[in-house]
Amino acid sequence: MDYLKHEPLLRLGFFGGVLVIMALGELFAPRRRLTVKKPLRWASNLGLVALNSVVARVLLPIGAVGMALFSEEHGWGLFNNIETPFWLVVVLCVVGLDLAIYLQHIMFHAVPILWRLHMVHHADLDFDVTTGLRFHTIEILLSMGIKFAVVVLLGAPALAVLIFEIALNATAMFNHANVRLPGWLDRVLRLVLVTPDMHRVHHSAIPVETNSNFGFNFPWWDLLFGTYRPQPEAGHEGMTIGLAQFRDQSVAWLHWMLALPFLGATGNYPVNRSRENDALRDGEARDQSDAAVVDPANEDDHQHVCS
Ligand SMILES: [Zn+2]
Ligand SMILES: [Zn+2]
Repeated sequence: MDYLKHEPLLRLGFFGGVLVIMALGELFAPRRRLTVKKPLRWASNLGLVALNSVVARVLLPIGAVGMALFSEEHGWGLFNNIETPFWLVVVLCVVGLDLAIYLQHIMFHAVPILWRLHMVHHADLDFDVTTGLRFHTIEILLSMGIKFAVVVLLGAPALAVLIFEIALNATAMFNHANVRLPGWLDRVLRLVLVTPDMHRVHHSAIPVETNSNFGFNFPWWDLLFGTYRPQPEAGHEGMTIGLAQFRDQSVAWLHWMLALPFLGATGNYPVNRSRENDALRDGEARDQSDAAVVDPANEDDHQHVCS
C-alpha cells in the first residue's frame, strides 16, 4: 500500500502533466478556432475545478480510494468475498467502474433534473482541455456518491480505484482537447480510447448528436449499446458547440455556471424528449394529411423516428 502515501502527488502530477501537454497541443495543432476569449473561459472553468476540489474534500473527505479501503476492512462487496487473482480483480474493477460512469452519464442526460446540472458541462461554447473539467459542484458530489456505491458493491481494491480515477481525469482532458490528430491515429486510438473527435460529437448543439458518444475512457460501451456516432453531420470545423438555448458569452462566467441549473431552460435535450416531440409532430402531420389509409412506407418512417 506504499503507493497510497504518494496518492496526492500522483494525482496532481498526472493532472498537471496532461493539462500542460494538451494545452501545448492546442497551441501548436488546434482543431477549431475558439469563439470565446481564452483567459475568461480558462479562469472560469479552472476556477470551477478548484471550487469543486475544495467542496468535495470538505464534504466527502474519505474519497473513493478511502471507501475501497473501508469496504476491504469490513469484507464488503463482490471481490472481497470471492477468490480471484488480484490483477484480474483490478482489470475487472477498472472496466466495471468505466461502465458505471457511462451509464451514469446517460442518466444525467435522461432525467431532466439531472440534465439541469449536466447542462453546465455542455453549455461551454468552445471545446478544449478545460471543458473536460467543467462540471457543476452538485454533479461532482452526486457522481462521487454513485462511485462510492459502485466501489462498495464491487469490493474494488484501492489500487483499481486509484488507477481508474487518475485515468478518468487524464482521459477527460485528452478527449476534450482542441487538438488535431492525424486521421489514422484517431482511427487506431478509437479502438481502445475515446478520442477528441469522438467526444466532440457529444458536444454538438444538435440534440441527436448530444445524445450520443457517452463514453469517457473506453469507446466500447457506445458501440455495444448503440449510442455511437462516428462524426458530426456538419463536420468538426463546421459544427456548432454548446446548447441551442445558451448562445451568448455569459455562459463563460463562473457565477452563471453555478446558477444555471436553477435558472436555465432545459431545451429539447433530455433523452427521449426530443424524440417524443418528433413523434408528436409526426403524428400531427399525419392527422393533417387526411391519410385515411396508412401508407406502409410512411409507417416504416414513423417507427424509425420512435425506435
Ligand atoms: Zn454529456
Ligand atoms: Zn464532455
